Amino acid sequence: MTVLQSPRLRVVIIGGGFSGASLAWQLAEMRAQAVITVVEPRSELGRGLAYSTNEPTHRINVPAHRMSLDPERREDFLEWLTEAEEQGRLDHDRQSVTEHGERFPRREVFGRYVSERLAPHLETGTIRHIRARVGDVERALDGSLVLMLSDESRIRADIVVLATGHPAPAVPKPVAGLTGAAQLIADPYDPVRLAEVDKDARILVLGAALTSADVIATLDRLGHQGRITCISRHGLRSRGHGQITRDSQVDFVNPPIRRASELLRAVRHAVVDDQAQGQSWHATFYRLRQQGPQIWAGLDAANRARLLRHLRTLWDVHRYRLAPQVEVVLNRLVADGRLEYVAGHVLATERDGEAVRVSWRERGGETRRTESFDKIIVTTGPAQGRCIDWNPALGALARLGLVTPDPLGLGLATTETCRAIDASGAASQRVLIAGPLARGHIGELVGAPECAIQVSAIAAEIVKQAILAPILGPAAVAHGPVATPS
Ligand SMILES: Cc1cc2nc3c(=O)[nH]c(=O)nc-3n(C[C@H](O)[C@H](O)[C@H](O)COP(=O)(O)OP(=O)(O)OC[C@H]3O[C@@H](n4cnc5c(N)ncnc54)[C@H](O)[C@@H]3O)c2cc1C
Repeated sequence: MTVLQSPRLRVVIIGGGFSGASLAWQLAEMRAQAVITVVEPRSELGRGLAYSTNEPTHRINVPAHRMSLDPERREDFLEWLTEAEEQGRLDHDRQSVTEHGERFPRREVFGRYVSERLAPHLETGTIRHIRARVGDVERALDGSLVLMLSDESRIRADIVVLATGHPAPAVPKPVAGLTGAAQLIADPYDPVRLAEVDKDARILVLGAALTSADVIATLDRLGHQGRITCISRHGLRSRGHGQITRDSQVDFVNPPIRRASELLRAVRHAVVDDQAQGQSWHATFYRLRQQGPQIWAGLDAANRARLLRHLRTLWDVHRYRLAPQVEVVLNRLVADGRLEYVAGHVLATERDGEAVRVSWRERGGETRRTESFDKIIVTTGPAQGRCIDWNPALGALARLGLVTPDPLGLGLATTETCRAIDASGAASQRVLIAGPLARGHIGELVGAPECAIQVSAIAAEIVKQAILAPILGPAAVAHGPVATPS
């Protein structure tokens, strides 16, 4: 293989969903002295799993004025949206506007915004997009990494940023025997499988969070009339949005909270205090979300694990909220008696002709229920704990000892500066982690606003290294710790 020496740092971002695209864009805007390449099989950067959908019921679940590629300009998406509508490049979607004047456009529109923002940098070649998947990874003699791509080409990187996002949901054990059967839809974002569902089908949805809401809203749009049962351990459904008229002033950081139980108490008190000020719990949770990384940083490993074990569901249903348009659909179906949420644990499934008999134990009791369904749809969320097994690129880096799993099973072990923790326990100089894979360190890192902030810290790290690359050579810079230039 011929390798041309470049004085500039070669940064390869694996994955061009929102996190990878946001990083490439931020590096380009900062005029980083680096060759920026994004390896992503999808045709457009910025879409990823969340924003590549064409399904009209799939809407952003954070209001448009809080979603931005640029953490410094929170309203960038809203401004783009308004301009695109005024210029007639985008039809005005009246349904996207709530009674309070907030905007919740289709997710596809947000993907288009990110893609359009990147376009000038792709045209000038500041950002290069290679449409391929990274399979294997090897280490070259100078320590740089050689990535093998699905188009059989290779690319050399001084720095690799892993932005591979969400692994597919794992099929829960009691339904694993149905894998490949017509009765099981394991990929909730497979539009073909959802469109094939019979209008009267009795449906069991495993999971009650945002993915299940997406699935139910899609089935409703397709004219589904049958009964839907949504089962999850706690039977809790994602909450809707409320109007925040004034930011909560509650402080969860000073003094620092050290225990999961203390945090729960603090949140309960804060909700009461905010309510006394005329604010709903939404304001309290927005504050929690802002201070999330500092709260998480104050907890030791045992308390982080406790938090996940006992409070994760409560956090998830309040933090990840339904787009108002989707909430309307769910409320209507519940009111019509066509949608039921149950708390329970699926024990077994058994084929029954064309249908499947499913037994589950109700939460907090010994009552066992058995019912027949025509379809089971898995919406249990990404299997972050299996990211290394699921993704060949991550598997290859793990075999080289460059990445290790996060001890809480949330993704990959990561330092405060977003560097992968390698097999020796040291911060990797070569591999950085962007987006939800780094959640174990940051705590709350799924929503686009949080991803954009985390990615800006990565961009700053890379810019530091890129400044020294022409002086010391990219290999040397990526090899050892870099002092901040004065
Ligand atoms: C369905 C859904 C809806 C969401 N809606 C919202 C919302 O409305 N508002 C909000 O704030 N947040 C939302 N989020 C959360 C948030 O936007 C995402 O967490 C964020 O988009 C993460 O993006 P990502 O790029 O890290 O991951 P992903 O979007 O998963 O993108 C990862 C990319 O990596 C690529 N990839 C994977 N492996 C390889 C490989 N080996 N080689 C090359 N490429 C590879 C994939 O093709 C993919 O495009 C949503 C998340 C989901 C899943």
